[in-house]
Amino acid sequence: LDTRRHAVVTGANKGIGLEICRQLASKGVTVVLTSRDEKRGLEAVCKLKEEGSAAPSGEVVFHQLDVTDSASIDSLVKFVSTRFGKLDILVNNAGISGTIIDFQALTSAVERDGDWPTDEAEWKTMATQNYKLAIECLETNYFGSKRVTEALLPLLQQSSSARIVNVSSDLGLLQNIPGESIKDALEDIENLTGNQIEEILKKFLEDFQRGQLAAKGWPETISAYKLSKAAMNAYTRLLAKEFPTFLVNSVCPGFVKTDITGNNGLLSAPEGAEGPVHLALLPETGPSGLCFFRKEVCSF
Ligand code: NDP
Repeated sequence: LDTRRHAVVTGANKGIGLEICRQLASKGVTVVLTSRDEKRGLEAVCKLKEEGSAAPSGEVVFHQLDVTDSASIDSLVKFVSTRFGKLDILVNNAGISGTIIDFQALTSAVERDGDWPTDEAEWKTMATQNYKLAIECLETNYFGSKRVTEALLPLLQQSSSARIVNVSSDLGLLQNIPGESIKDALEDIENLTGNQIEEILKKFLEDFQRGQLAAKGWPETISAYKLSKAAMNAYTRLLAKEFPTFLVNSVCPGFVKTDITGNNGLLSAPEGAEGPVHLALLPETGPSGLCFFRKEVCSF
């Protein structure tokens, strides 16, 4: 009987995802490190294997996965199915900012504030967005994670202790969405459906294209990213309701020095991975349907 736990981590060739793989493997979990780029992914696996030879650790294997490509998702599902027959842990970590950030200006602002700058007027001078990037961002962060999850659900149902960790962001908290009716809809977990989440995102893109973000109550900066993560958080709660035997949670890793932040941040990538790993290894009695900032519960 194979009693090992098996995990899939998306966007794991670098940054927080790579560290999640390292930490899970060090706890004896067999990890499928996935990357949209085969070469970058294989290099990351080699790096982990070279370092990990001393400590007793789980196996790390590579499989290609672009979360926006359904053929790529199908191929991963086949691989996990034939190789392991079940999946215990899914970490939806892959993400993009959907924003062109002036990292030099961000570095100065972080040096000044000692944290992620929060002034919206300043962000308007540091960040630019466009419709194409907005679509890519929603496709990757929200729809990509959702499709990967749905495709792996049958294998998660074969596990006696399924965990889904959605790597979200505190930028996606509802407090960052000005429009009350948008917030109300995303918060009303009793009545919210997956279709409604999609309707909200569709409306967002329409208003984005018409230049009506502020007028219609959407965030004006890093907009698609905030919406993608707010949608992910809502989806976390829907999943938790639908699969009461799973533990499904969202987590903000903190402000972490990786490429997405131009290597600005208060935490290293290994520190950023701690929150997601904690939720991936929750005991049977652990919570579900919650949002975390690192290891602390926070409100949606
Ligand atoms: P990185 O930019 O270092 O890593 C992002 C990873 O996602 C890369 O491996 C990237 O691959 C991958 N990726 C992007 N698009 C796709 C795709 N279509 N399919 C598969 N993989 C893809 O950033 P982080 O490590 O910081 O980000 C990890 C997660 O943490 C993200 O979801 C991010 O939103 C979240 N987060 C990060 C914070 C921070 O301060 N760093 C704060 C809050 C949340 P490639 O190398 O090919 O581009």
